[in-house]
This record gives sequence, C-alpha cells and structure tokens, in this order.
Amino acid sequence: MTNPCIICVAITGSLPTKANNPAVPITVSEQIESTHEAFEAGASIVHAHVRNDDETPSSDPEKFAALKEGLEKHCPGMIIQFSTGGRSGAGQARGAMLRLRPDMASLSVGSNNFPTRVYENPPDLVDWLAAEMLVYDVKPEIEAFDLSHILKAHQMWQAGHIAQVPYVQFVMGVKNAMPVDRDVFDYYISTVQRLFGPDAAWCAAGIGAQQATLNEWAVAAGGHARTGLEDNVRLDRDRLAPSNAALVQRVVELCDKHERPVATWRQARNTLGLRAGPGKEQAA
Ligand SMILES: [Zn+2]
Repeated sequence: MTNPCIICVAITGSLPTKANNPAVPITVSEQIESTHEAFEAGASIVHAHVRNDDETPSSDPEKFAALKEGLEKHCPGMIIQFSTGGRSGAGQARGAMLRLRPDMASLSVGSNNFPTRVYENPPDLVDWLAAEMLVYDVKPEIEAFDLSHILKAHQMWQAGHIAQVPYVQFVMGVKNAMPVDRDVFDYYISTVQRLFGPDAAWCAAGIGAQQATLNEWAVAAGGHARTGLEDNVRLDRDRLAPSNAALVQRVVELCDKHERPVATWRQARNTLGLRAGPGKEQAA
C-alpha cells in the first residue's frame, strides 16, 4: 500500500478573522507566505479564498490573479485551487476568477444549511460554474456536504458536464449540515467506489475540533486529507494553531503513523490527472 496521501491546505476561507487567530492570512502577501510554509511542510494543494482589507469575503478576480502569480513564483508545482463557494448569494461573481485557469476550483453541486444561513447553489448556477470549468480547463473538486451531492456529481460526469472522473471531498461537521458520522463516512467511500471505480481518489475535511478526526479517518482509509485554518483555527482545546503549516504537519504525522507517504506535487498532479501547468515540468 503505497498510495501517497495528498494534503490540501485551506489557508483562509471566508469566515475566520485575525480576532479568531492572528495566523489567519488575509492579505495576498500573507496568503503567499502562509502557503509557502505549508507547501514546505508537505501540502501539495492550496485551497484559497480572497479577502478585502477589512477581512470581509471578496471574489475580486484581480486579487485572485495576484495570489496565483505569487503562488506560482514561490510554490512552483503546487496545485492551485480557488473557491467558488465562499460568497453564497453572489451568483456568477463566484466564478469570475475561473478564466485565470487555476488548476482546480471547488464546486458545490447542491444546496444545504450552514450554521446561520442557507448555502445556496441553485441548479442554473451549478451548471454555469461547471461549464466555465470545462471552458477554462479547471478541474472541479466536488464539495459533498450531503450524499446527494456525490450522486449529482455522477450525473454531471455521465452527461459530460464534468470532464474527468469527479474528485469528491466529503465535508463533515458543518453545523446544520452533515455531522461527523462514521457510518455515513464509510457509505460515502463505498458510493464513490461504486460510481467512479474502486481506485477513484477522494478526500475529506472536518470542521473545528473534528478536523483531526476526519484527517485520521481519511489517511487510514486510503483517502486524501484537507486541513488548514479555513476549517479549524486550533491545535487543541487550549492552543491556537500557530500557522497553516502546523496543521499540515499534524497530517504528515498521521501519514507516518498509518504508513502512507505524503504525496509530492508531482504525484498529486498525476493522481488527479492535472496538466503540468505553465512553465512547469511534466507531472510524473
Ligand atoms: Zn473554502
């Protein structure tokens, strides 16, 4: 069993602020520095939102462009994944950065409840985002907040609206959405394997204190793992996470414990069927 584990670092998100944890990177230069540390620690995917200077969520393509340029310079080879989910209600503005051709973008294919609101993903917007990803050769990561989202991704793939075998992320522990439940987690895995093939790659993310739980479940079950300050700002009950890299390091230790190598960016690109990227070596 030498299936290398791909570690994704979700550096910023749309919610956590400096008041929650001063290590949350807000400006583009902070984001580049934080990602670089996480890349050195073992992350091969960066999942990114951008923020305004007052820390409110943004979908400004110019900010995304500056971030992409800096990441390509300072983290060569790392897989860049932009969030299209961070500004529920913003409509097509959520996908305005796709024309920058990031390697990947998150794609939510259905609606569900979030802690204090509805996370709106109406069918016409889902179809438009998926179509834009086809146009610009951006690989979607399907954010499965519910079982139905995995089956919807399968339908979209069968219809040709998603180019490659969908890469699904199981998200558990968002208040008012799917809780952390081991039986559901196992059923998610068996559903992905039934619909997309026994070797289909998948990943998992847990929110708050459950981040470490989902990290360990995913690493032990042969999946890939997402960590980072977007989902969780603490190391444990008493300590704030000092950086995104510290959370990545926690997953690296889980990989050691479960005898999984940590995927290099080349291995991660190969596993996910991604293009090598502008000016980069061929993925191998
Ligand atoms: Zn996100």
